[in-house]
Amino acid sequence: MNSASEPVLRELLDGNERFRSGESRHWSYPPEKIAELGAGQRPIAAIVACSDGRVSPEIVFDQPLANLFVSRVPGNVASDGTKWMLEIAVTDMKVPLVLVVGHTECLAIKQVIDGQQGAGGPLRNPVERAVTRARASGKAVFEEAVRLNAIQTVEMLREESVAVKAALAEGKTTLAAAVYDVHTGLVRLVD
Ligand SMILES: [Zn+2]
Repeated sequence: MNSASEPVLRELLDGNERFRSGESRHWSYPPEKIAELGAGQRPIAAIVACSDGRVSPEIVFDQPLANLFVSRVPGNVASDGTKWMLEIAVTDMKVPLVLVVGHTECLAIKQVIDGQQGAGGPLRNPVERAVTRARASGKAVFEEAVRLNAIQTVEMLREESVAVKAALAEGKTTLAAAVYDVHTGLVRLVD
């Protein structure tokens, strides 16, 4: 974390606390507020999350529209779309924080654990690697695969996204992994 990313992370975790306490602030958008947002966005962070309907970043971090720049793909993997989103986020919008948010009970990961074949093509490859590593860990496979998969996305973005690599080298952004617990609503950082 650098000095710019720390307060942003704090804001996201504070928002998650509001969400968990049933005290979310950002639900209502009167027409004048919508019109105001039309003038532009200034995201404070980029979020890479799963498509799962329980992990909507604006809701679980209690952030208003325009505050987050988001890519959602099953299993929160480092897809080409994710990399494009991050190129815009770190280069043009200069977000000081990129957070990869995995979640418990992730269906994309469960399908791989269960050996279920299906769509996804090469996007499933990193999930399969995470599951293999989780099986070898001796820990609870599903939970560990979720954690490893989020960390792996961070590692892949660091290596494969030219824009992220440059922003990290210049100290302009921070890249971190987190897991959202669908049972408690808690987001916790993982490493
Ligand atoms: Zn998921």
